[in-house]
Amino acid sequence: MEEKAEIAIQHSDDAFFKVFLSDYSLRPSCYSCLFKGYRMPGDLIIGDFWNIRMAYPSMDDDKGVSEVIVVTEKGEKLISMLSGRMEIRRTSILKAFQPAIWYPPVKPRKRERFFLELRSNSFATSLQHINSNKLRGIASLFRGIVRTLWPIRFKRTAAGMSRVENDLKKTCIGCSACVSACPTKAIGMKADNEGFQYPIIDESKCINCGLCKRICPVANPKKMLTGFRAVYAMKASDEIRACCSSGGVFPVLAEEIVRKGGIVFGAVLDLLSSNFVKHTAVDDVARLSLLYGSKYIQSTIGSSYEDVKRELATGRLVLFSGTPCQIAGLYSYLGRFDYSNLYTISIICHGVPSSLVFSAYLKDMQKDGMDIVDVSFRDKIIGWRRYSIKLTYSKHNV
Ligand SMILES: Cc1cc2nc3c(=O)[nH]c(=O)nc-3n(C[C@H](O)[C@H](O)[C@H](O)COP(=O)(O)OP(=O)(O)OC[C@H]3O[C@@H](n4cnc5c(N)ncnc54)[C@H](O)[C@@H]3O)c2cc1C
Ligand code: SF4
Ligand code: SF4
Repeated sequence: MEEKAEIAIQHSDDAFFKVFLSDYSLRPSCYSCLFKGYRMPGDLIIGDFWNIRMAYPSMDDDKGVSEVIVVTEKGEKLISMLSGRMEIRRTSILKAFQPAIWYPPVKPRKRERFFLELRSNSFATSLQHINSNKLRGIASLFRGIVRTLWPIRFKRTAAGMSRVENDLKKTCIGCSACVSACPTKAIGMKADNEGFQYPIIDESKCINCGLCKRICPVANPKKMLTGFRAVYAMKASDEIRACCSSGGVFPVLAEEIVRKGGIVFGAVLDLLSSNFVKHTAVDDVARLSLLYGSKYIQSTIGSSYEDVKRELATGRLVLFSGTPCQIAGLYSYLGRFDYSNLYTISIICHGVPSSLVFSAYLKDMQKDGMDIVDVSFRDKIIGWRRYSIKLTYSKHNV
C-alpha cells in the first residue's frame, strides 16, 4: 500500500526561497544578464503581474494575474488566440513595472561562500552562515534602489559581452546552442562544482570550424529593440489558474497550439534525474500539465533545439517557452533557417539556481522512510502572493 503526505511552506518561511529570492543561488551569468529590457527575445514575454492591486484592483482575486508583453507581430497573433478564454486588459509597461524585466539581480557579496558552505554543510546551516550579516538586507535594498534609478546599467551589461572568451564561467548561460550546432558532436555539457552546466570540448573530435563561437548568443548579441508593442494584464479561469504560477497565459496558449496540431516545448520536473528540470516536447493535451508551473532550477535544453528544427522542417506549428537566454540560444541555433511556424514565449526571469542547490535543499527536507515524489514551487493554497512550496512524500509499506 502507498501512503502519501504533503507539506506546504509559505515561501517567506522556506529556506530554498530565502536563498533564491536573496540571489545567493543563481548562475554566475545571471548577475550580468544580457537579456533584459529591450534585449529580451521572444514573441511574448510573460510573468506575474505583482502590481495588479495598484494597477487594476478589480482584477485582483489573489489567484494569479499574468503580465504579458507583446514583442513581435507573431506575439500579436498569440494574443488573438487568447481572446474569449481570458480576462484581458490593456495596460502600460509603467504599470507592469518590475525590476526583473529591466535589470539583472545584484550578486551578494557572500554568494561564493554560500556554494562553498554547501559542500560541507547542510542547506540550512549554509543559509545560517551567510545570514550572519544583519546589515545585508539594508545594503542590498540600497543597492537595488540605486540600480533601479540608474539606467547606466545597460552599459555595464554590454561591457560583459567582451569578456566571453576569457571568462566563460561568468558569461556562459548554459543554453547548449554550441552543443547542438557542433557538426562533429565534439561538445558536451558538464556540471561545475556549483552544479551549473558548462560546455566542454573533446579536442580529439574538434575540427576548429568555429561554428560554436559564431552561434553563441552571448558572443553574438542581437540588436536591441526600440520598444514593446503592447502590454496586457490577463487571467484565465479559476480552474486553470489553480495549476499554474500566475494568470494562466502559458496553459491556455499551449492548449491552443496543440489543438491546432502543433507541439509545445517547456520545462518539466523530473525528481529522478540528476538535473531535476529538463526541456521537453509535448503534443498531447492530456500531458501538457507537465509543463505548467515555474520550476526554480535551471532547465537543461538537451536535444530540444534540434527537435524544434526537425519539427519546423515538417511544417508543424511549434511553441517554445523558456528563460530569455534559452530563447536567445534557440534563435542563434536556428540562424537563417525558416522559422515562420515558430512562436516563442520568454518568462520574466529572476535568475536560475543549480540542481546542486536544489538537491541540498531536498536532502534537508527528507523524512525517515519516505521519498519526496513531487514538488510544486508555486502552490496557491493560501493565495498567489503568499505562494508556498509544496512537497509530496510517499511511503511504501510492503
Ligand atoms: C526561474 C524562473 C524565474 C522567474 N522569475 C520571475 C520574475 O522575477 N518575475 C515574474 O514576473 N515572473 C517570473 N517567472 C515567471 C512566472 O513565475 C511564471 O512562470 C509565468 O508568469 C508564467 O505563468 P503562467 O501562469 O502563464 O503559466 P505557468 O504554467 O506557470 O508557466 C510555466 C512556464 O514556465 C516555464 N518554465 C518553468 N520552469 C522553467 C525553468 N526552470 N526554465 C525555463 N522555463 C521554465 C514552462 O516551460 C512554462 O512555459 C519566473 C519563472 C522561472 C521559471
Ligand atoms: S537565466 Fe534568466 S537571469 Fe539568468 S542569464 Fe538567463 S535570462 Fe538572464
Ligand atoms: S552557446 Fe550557450 S552554452 Fe555554448 S558557450 Fe555560448 S552561452 Fe555557453
